[in-house]
Amino acid sequence: MLSPSNLINDTFDVLVAGAGVTGICAALAAARQGARTVLLEPRPFIGGNAATGLCIHTYKTRYGKQVVYGLAQEIVDRLVEQGGAVGHVPLPSGYVHSVTPVDADLFRMETTAMLAEAGVTILYNTALVDADAQGGHVRRVLVCSKSKLGYIQARSFVDATGDADLAVMAGAPARTGWPGSGAMQPVSMMMRAVSVDTRRACEALSEFEAAWATKRGVDGPFPVYFHGTFTRWNQELRDLGVYDHDNHQFWTNTVWPDQLNINGSRLANIDGNDPLALSRATVELTAQLQKLAAFMRARVPGFEHASFMPNAFVGVRETRNVQGLYELNEEDIRVGARFDDAIGQGCFPVDIHHPDGKSQEHIDVGGDGAYDIPYRCLVPQKTENVWVAGRCISVSQYAHGATRNMAPCMTTGEAAGIAAALCAKTGTAAAGLPMATLQPALREAGVFLETQAATA
Ligand SMILES: Cc1cc2nc3c(=O)[nH]c(=O)nc-3n(C[C@H](O)[C@H](O)[C@H](O)COP(=O)(O)OP(=O)(O)OC[C@H]3O[C@@H](n4cnc5c(N)ncnc54)[C@H](O)[C@@H]3O)c2cc1C
Repeated sequence: MLSPSNLINDTFDVLVAGAGVTGICAALAAARQGARTVLLEPRPFIGGNAATGLCIHTYKTRYGKQVVYGLAQEIVDRLVEQGGAVGHVPLPSGYVHSVTPVDADLFRMETTAMLAEAGVTILYNTALVDADAQGGHVRRVLVCSKSKLGYIQARSFVDATGDADLAVMAGAPARTGWPGSGAMQPVSMMMRAVSVDTRRACEALSEFEAAWATKRGVDGPFPVYFHGTFTRWNQELRDLGVYDHDNHQFWTNTVWPDQLNINGSRLANIDGNDPLALSRATVELTAQLQKLAAFMRARVPGFEHASFMPNAFVGVRETRNVQGLYELNEEDIRVGARFDDAIGQGCFPVDIHHPDGKSQEHIDVGGDGAYDIPYRCLVPQKTENVWVAGRCISVSQYAHGATRNMAPCMTTGEAAGIAAALCAKTGTAAAGLPMATLQPALREAGVFLETQAATA
């Protein structure tokens, strides 16, 4: 019978569960504060959804002012050096001011190097199973590694699982899906296409002016982001069984002149916390993308010689959101709200893929185009030494449409990592961390804090 003992005979200052963009930033930020940090990841690689080939949305308000810096900017700077990013590229007449495509593999390689430089212990193939918590204070977590169950002890715990697994295990309340119905945004699988004539593809498909960039070693500008539909082939796509509706928008991004990452599949009614549903989605979306690939190769200009690789796993937009000390809401985004306990800003609009899988809704950020993210959204109710960051922070279903994007995930990850490290040093509970301590540490790390900058 199983009788778990300590997996590691040591007590870490900070444990981060989940190594998507959020967990990467949380672990880096904690380690740079001097905290002994461990990062758990069930997959044999880091990146989470960022490993699927996406643009980081977004650093600049729709009026062009950059409000996201810190680790989020440092990672892009390092990727530009490696040829894995082309910076913040203007998107003329688009729905945002600029886009920031990154290569998923170079992102993984560069952030792995950054974590190693910072001294973070990464535990791959290791999933959180339970939290040993009393009165909201977590002492240790039970994890399942490749061949055994074991405990890991720490002083502070950051939940970057995207699904709020750790916070819920520790006793925090959470909302699953949309209030009332529990419905969730559809899941999608990304697909990479190589040997593409991207200039011709963009000309044939782009619905608004694309983002074009130049890059060392590449002749002339090439399209790095465009959005389109296959409207003129609607009947054919229905006949082939690729889509059962006509609102099949897709988005592409790349940092290479002959490759595209394509976001063009959707499956509704999948609970991203249900392993059976996710497994079914993996099979169905792989098949959907194989049909789409055959159609594109046969019919769409620029793809005649392309090869297509559907991603290895399904991307999940929405599952659980923790109930924290504050819930950021739709109105906060609509007015571009300011908060005294801001830990950074977000500026990407609310982007909701409707749970029916057939429509999409955008709500612009009001005010000057940015909203503050309050520290209280990272502090789950009914817990003491737990922080939540990234996709599952405390936000309403609509605000989640904005905060689920990668730039805000990196900002909340960095703030949670710094807060967790500061509290581990002094034994302070998450809710008791003074802003007079946290905000200067965030500014020191390079995070943009307009409220503080104005009053400093
Ligand atoms: C199809 C699709 C397209 C998107 N397009 C964009 C885009 O263009 N731009 C943009 O900015 N955003 C986009 N998003 C949103 C964005 O990618 C995600 O919301 C964001 O990457 C979430 O980051 P995260 O680190 O919080 O979560 P995740 O990336 O989900 O990472 C969570 C990590 O935690 C791990 N984990 C899960 N459970 C456990 C556990 N029990 N124990 C330990 N670890 C665990 C997972 O393996 C994973 O590595 C898109 C999302 C989807 C699905």
